[in-house]
Amino acid sequence: MGKHLTYEGQFPGRLLASILVLLLLQSCAEVPITHRKGLHLVPETELLSMSLQQYDEVLKTSKLSTNTQKVEMVRRVGNRIAKSTEAFLAETGQADKIKNFKWEFNLIEDDKTVNAWVMPGGRAAVYTGILPYTQNETGLAVVLGHEVAHALADHGNERMSEALVANMGGMALSVALSSKPQQTQQLFMTVFGVGANVGFLLPYSRLHESEADRIGLTLMARAGYDPREAIPFWERMNKQEGKSRSPEFLSTHPATETRIADIKKYIPEAMPYYKAPSK
Ligand SMILES: [Zn+2]
Repeated sequence: MGKHLTYEGQFPGRLLASILVLLLLQSCAEVPITHRKGLHLVPETELLSMSLQQYDEVLKTSKLSTNTQKVEMVRRVGNRIAKSTEAFLAETGQADKIKNFKWEFNLIEDDKTVNAWVMPGGRAAVYTGILPYTQNETGLAVVLGHEVAHALADHGNERMSEALVANMGGMALSVALSSKPQQTQQLFMTVFGVGANVGFLLPYSRLHESEADRIGLTLMARAGYDPREAIPFWERMNKQEGKSRSPEFLSTHPATETRIADIKKYIPEAMPYYKAPSK
C-alpha cells in the first residue's frame, strides 16, 4: 500500500520524465556508418533557409574563380562525391536524410585562405588557397568527402543546438532569429566557419572530426577515389602545422599523428568500395 502511494506521488515526475525522453528520442537522428545518435534541436527547414541565405551572402561578397579548368575540377570532384553520397544513402534506406539537399560547388579566388566547407543542405565552397595542399583531384576528394560527411551526419545541427543552449539559454532558433538576428547570424557563421572575416572558428569536436574522416573515406572510395590517398594529404597538412600563417582548415582540422593513425584504421572499411581504374 505504502509502495503504491509512493508510486502515485512520483507519477507526475515520471510522466514528465518519459515525455522528455520521448521528445529527446524524436530529436535524435542516427549518423550513417557510425550509427551514433546525435541531438538535433534545430528544425531542418530553419537551418536550410539560414544556410541558403549565408551561402548567397558568401558568394556575393567573394570573388569567384575564373579559372575554368580549376572550377570544373572542383565541380567534378564535388558532384562525384554528391552522387556517391546519394547512392550510398539510397542503398541503405536513408535517402530521406538528404532529400532537401541541393548540391552546389563553387571555387572562390582567394590564395590566402586555406579552407573548404559544405553547409547544411549541400552548398559548398572551396578556396583556391587549399589547392596547393590537395594537389590533385583525389586530394580534393579527401577534403570534400570529409566536409560532405559533416553535412550528411548533421553535425552542424548538433553544434548549432549546443551553441543555442550555451549562448542563448536554449532559445529556439526561430525566436533567436527574430529577436537577435545579428547574434544568431554570428553564431551560425562561427559554428559553420563560413565567410572570409570570421574572427573565431569553433572547431568541431574530435568525435565529429573522426566521424567525418571515417564516413568521408567511404564516400570518396565510392566516388572512385583511392581512400589511401587521405594519408599523404593529412601528412602534407601536418607538415604545415605550426608554420607562420594559420590556415583556416588546419585550425579547425588539426592534422595530428592521432588523426592520421585513426584514418589508417578506417581505410580497410572503405577499400571494398573502391574500384581502381582499369589500366
Ligand atoms: Zn571536419
